[in-house]
This record gives sequence, C-alpha cells and structure tokens, in this order.
Amino acid sequence: MNASAIRPKIGRPQFVMHPHLNFDVGSGQGRLHVINDNAGRLFNFSRRSAASDSMIDVSAANAADAKHAVSLGRRPSPGLVPFGPVISCALAAISDTDMLLLGIRDYGAGCGVDPRTPQGRAALYSLAFMLRRAAAVYLDIQDYELKAGIRSQENPDGTVTGQIFLCDTLENGAGYATHLGVAAVMQDLLEMIAQPTPREFHNRLVAPPHAEACDTSCPDCLRSYSNLAYHNLLDWRLGMDIATVALDPHTVLSLASPRWRRVAELAATTLESARPRFNRTVVAGLPAVTDGREIIIVTHPLWWTERGGQGAELRAACDEAAARGLQIDPEHGFVSVFEALRRPA
Ligand SMILES: [Zn+2]
Repeated sequence: MNASAIRPKIGRPQFVMHPHLNFDVGSGQGRLHVINDNAGRLFNFSRRSAASDSMIDVSAANAADAKHAVSLGRRPSPGLVPFGPVISCALAAISDTDMLLLGIRDYGAGCGVDPRTPQGRAALYSLAFMLRRAAAVYLDIQDYELKAGIRSQENPDGTVTGQIFLCDTLENGAGYATHLGVAAVMQDLLEMIAQPTPREFHNRLVAPPHAEACDTSCPDCLRSYSNLAYHNLLDWRLGMDIATVALDPHTVLSLASPRWRRVAELAATTLESARPRFNRTVVAGLPAVTDGREIIIVTHPLWWTERGGQGAELRAACDEAAARGLQIDPEHGFVSVFEALRRPA
C-alpha cells in the first residue's frame, strides 16, 4: 500500500473543549477514518464476472498479476475485464479510539491560519506532527502509536478555523491521547516545542546545525515515512510559531526573529534571481526586490497582506515603499517565504 495515499481524518468529536492560555483542548473517544484514496487516483471497483457478486479493482488486480508473472519469468495472462458498472471510490478504515483536539484562539493582529490555504494547512500540519514527536518523547512511546492530522471547522460568521488532532493508533485507544488532551499536559507539550526546556526538544531544532541547514523540513525535525503525503507542506518554523502563539496571544510573528531571518533573506535571493531587472532592497527591515518602479516584499507566511488587515511590521514596510515612490501590486507585490522557497517564482 502506498503510504503517501493514506490520510487520517476525524469528524466532529462529541467531547467538551476547555479554554487555557490561548488555546482550547479537549479529549475523549472519537471516530477515526483512515482514508486511502490511491494517491488521488481512487480505486475503480467492478464485478469480476456475471457469476460473481464480489467487487475488484480490475486494473490493480491485473497489475499485481503481471508483476507476479514477471517475477516468475512467465508471460502475464490476458487479465480480467471489468464486468458491469465501475464504481470509483476511496477506502476508509474506521475505528473508535482515544483522541484529543487542539484549537488556537487568537493569532494576533495581522495574522491568521486558514486551513483552506496551503500556508494555513502547512502551519497546522507542522504543529500536528511536531506535537506527535513531542508527545512520543513525553510519554516515551513510538511516533507510530499516535496518528496526527487536522480538521476544519466552519464558524457561524463564515470563517473557517483549523484544529489539530492526535489519536491513539490502537483501536479503542491506549489512553495516550486522553492523557495528552489535559490542558496542563498540552501546555507542557507546546512549551517543549516553543521554548527551551530540559527535554531539549526546542533547543535541538533552533541550534545552528539544524536551523542553518533546514529551510523548510527534514527527517531531523518533521519528515517521516508516515507523513510522506505532507512533506512538501511541512515547515518547522511555522509549527514552532503557532505553538508560541497558542501559549501567548501577545506573540508577534516577525520575520526579523532569529528563526526566520536567514530564510527570509534566502527568499529574497530566490525572487531576485528569477527577475533579471530586479535588485535587492530593504523596506522597514523587510527584505524585498525592486526594479526602481515596483517592489515585491517578502512576507511571513501567516501574515494577512490585504490593506487594512496588515500587522505593524508589514504596514511599516508598505508605508516606506510608498514614501520611496515604489508601487506594490496587490496580487503579486507580496511573496511569502513559504511560496518563495517552494515555488521558485
Ligand atoms: Zn529540519
């Protein structure tokens, strides 16, 4: 089975969420769906013959037969032909288990995490998989004993917020997630990620050997075989940022922080090399590129860039750009570090 196709999902669990610091956390029994969509291609089931009611994915069965025949040095047989209508679907393994749910209440002025955007999903999945690693250290268990993922919640005002879940891999639960879903324990886990602690979880990530080598994610911080489907999204800086916000709503997510400075510079270098007429500049401390008429400003992936929604750091940069007579295209004038490093522009 292709691990990149497998995604754990949960519905709306029935347990109560408890507010603590800048997050809500709750835990209890819930239903876990592990979806296998065949890497987005789905499975195509049909009856194998008029005489049989059993359903089979004919092309998958033929491919497996052909592979087997080749391994024996034989010629593949002609193969099956679908009989009757073909049903396209994903497969779901459904189980009831222990789970916890974590939501962050307030991301602060000028910032947000929308699970409908790639950078919003990136932040949430990154914290989900970081929490799983921190929890494994905390409980002295293996990563695979917990499953991690996110769910979206539609709010009455039409906005969508993302929540993070961890659940026990074992059917009916082993009690890990319910223990981790207590507010004080969740605070410990978030502190392991966001701050230096005796467990040295945070320290190892921000230390130069990792921080200077890892632009987004690597096996040392976030990537593992079990989250192959999300490797391109994962970013330890984003996970650490929103863990910090969860502990303190007054956190200001800044590109000038030691965590972001190097990759923000790298993003500007990427933008410059993709645009022959543009040169590096700095506006109110933010790296940018300009051709003397237009300016493109490097932004934090979780910043709102629309006029009126901007936080102080970006507003100051826009003001300085305007004072220098430089134009900012509302569509293309802002490129986040996330976009610059993943999609060479
Ligand atoms: Zn890394």
